[in-house]
Amino acid sequence: MKAAPFEYTRAGGVGDALDALRLGAVVLAGGQSLVPLLNARVRRPALVVDVSRLPLTTVERDGPALVLGALTRLRTAETSPVVARALPLLAEALTHVGHVSVRNRGTVGGSAAHADPAAEVPAVLLALDAVFTARSHRGTREVEARDFFRGPHRTALEPDELLTAVRVPLPAPTARHGMAELSRRPNDLAVTAVFTSVVLTDGVVTDARIAVAGAAPTPIRARAAEEVLTGRAPTPGVLAEAAEAAASATDPVDDLHAPAAYRRDMTAVLTRRALRRATTG
Ligand SMILES: Cc1cc2nc3c(=O)[nH]c(=O)nc-3n(C[C@H](O)[C@H](O)[C@H](O)COP(=O)(O)OP(=O)(O)OC[C@H]3O[C@@H](n4cnc5c(N)ncnc54)[C@H](O)[C@@H]3O)c2cc1C
Repeated sequence: MKAAPFEYTRAGGVGDALDALRLGAVVLAGGQSLVPLLNARVRRPALVVDVSRLPLTTVERDGPALVLGALTRLRTAETSPVVARALPLLAEALTHVGHVSVRNRGTVGGSAAHADPAAEVPAVLLALDAVFTARSHRGTREVEARDFFRGPHRTALEPDELLTAVRVPLPAPTARHGMAELSRRPNDLAVTAVFTSVVLTDGVVTDARIAVAGAAPTPIRARAAEEVLTGRAPTPGVLAEAAEAAASATDPVDDLHAPAAYRRDMTAVLTRRALRRATTG
């Protein structure tokens, strides 16, 4: 099937993109999710604005945060020594997103804006308390990750807003990460995946972040599980307790890929594995 006819314009600058968005255009970044939706005629925009050549591609330290331009390619972030040092959880998670050819074109902002509940990047950004910068002709605003993901493929972005950057606070230097993902084939979208970042001080957890993908209409933070861990030594019993709390926070549905109960059970299994990776070795 071919896409329904649409007008195409390539933005030469952010202003052009915002002009087109004001006219009702849909943003095309790397096209790795949008183009299949156009071809299946799930989306039939009258106007598409290609932003892929805008220079929103810098990855730089800004005080206690790393700022990634929304058009940073997934592969660029994955292979960036700066990202590897500052946000190793993101760097590892990116290796699970599709294949290299997908990551060569797909963008960090595109993955966030597409907001697939099973996607890796949105869940990691939620775990790390990222802040999204959105621009429109009405101005610039920032949206915290916990308010950004609103439902399957729904975000807080208004139709006339362009996501321009993602600001990720740097985890403590002593933070260690662990992730665990179940997918049907390597590099498929996750059935369920868990992303954790943990700080241990004198053998006791002093900070814990746990985000789950593929187990609710949006990526979720397992806050009750984080509380179970905080102030305690990460013994197998405590990890098991946290894993059960994470599973209880899920709200999965039955679908083609897995029944809801399986996703809930896998959340517990994957949480335990991810936490073990973050707290041992
Ligand atoms: C074979 C294959 C395998 C894949 N496997 C995975 C996987 O394992 N895990 C995973 O998470 N994803 C996977 N994907 C999906 C894909 O990698 C991401 O969703 C994709 O990279 C999104 O980024 P993009 O730049 O290509 O966005 P696009 O496809 O260009 O856009 C996606 C959506 O976001 C909007 N958008 C994009 N950029 C902006 C912006 N700056 N401001 C506002 N709105 C914007 C678009 O309008 C559109 O609605 C796979 C895709 C393919 C084709």
